Amino acid sequence: MNKLKIAIQKSGRLYDESVKLLKDCGIDLKNGVNKLKTECDNFPMEIYFLRDDDIPQYVEDAVADVGIVGENVFYEKNKKAEIVEQLGFGKCRLSVAVGRGEQYDGVEFLNGKRIATTYPGLLRQFLDKNGIKAEIHEISGSVEIAPGIGLADAIVDLVSSGSTLFMNGLKEVETVLKSQAVLIRNERLDPEVRQLLEKFLFRIRAVKKARNNKYILLNAPNDKLQEIIRLLPGMKSPTVLPLAEVGWSSVHSVLSENDFWEIIERLKDAGAQGILVVPIEKMVI
Ligand code: ATP
Ligand code: MG
Repeated sequence: MNKLKIAIQKSGRLYDESVKLLKDCGIDLKNGVNKLKTECDNFPMEIYFLRDDDIPQYVEDAVADVGIVGENVFYEKNKKAEIVEQLGFGKCRLSVAVGRGEQYDGVEFLNGKRIATTYPGLLRQFLDKNGIKAEIHEISGSVEIAPGIGLADAIVDLVSSGSTLFMNGLKEVETVLKSQAVLIRNERLDPEVRQLLEKFLFRIRAVKKARNNKYILLNAPNDKLQEIIRLLPGMKSPTVLPLAEVGWSSVHSVLSENDFWEIIERLKDAGAQGILVVPIEKMVI
């Protein structure tokens, strides 16, 4: 029987979330001692643990049918594979940073400068797009120390909070790429494997929706009910149930994480009480 072969990072920043996504999709990994490859009992899937840099190539070569990798790595490697879904984790940006003391007033600053990076491909595209001529120094790690030791005038590196830059006396001045983890697929999957991928994607989407939404329950005085219902989008429309206490109702609905705090405020102002918010495990619309 066919299996969906998926490549995920062996260890590092994407590992935990990748495994968690599989688990949330109801896919139980066998805890193999041999951590190159493992299987699952309850889904026809084989999991390969690899360095993230190698994942696009493995997917292009169909050693793996699909893979989970950062967009930064996917675009840098420029392999033949397709993005099928953004996964909402591993968020970071590839940015240009210069010494904090530099007076930076636009990309022209970079003309004639030496820029250290582990992303020469993406940096080259960025420079060409902006008509900048600069020298690219490809190094394999610890890019943030390059300016301090006189190896470069600027760097292009991944940033999430910016604390690493700060500790190295650098400031972020341009964004080259915004990135998150994505599911990529081989361009030519046979029909059976493609069906497995569809099944897997259906689960991923249900998990993503659930993560972006919360279930909300609240008590409302009946004379404020219409106003409160208007604030709640819900999947279709909110559920309204009478409370044992006359004149009050319980209202249930689903709220998107993005509007969450704002709507909670407005619900309280409208007279809602006893507001409970609970996570949703799966959501299929
Ligand atoms: P490997 O050993 O697999 O090659 P790595 O050291 O290249 O690992 P990690 O540092 O584990 O890679 O990062 C993996 C991915 O996590 C990055 O390519 C990026 O997509 C994402 N990421 C999210 N936030 C950050 C961050 N602050 N710094 C670096 N990467 C981040
Ligand atoms: Mg890597």
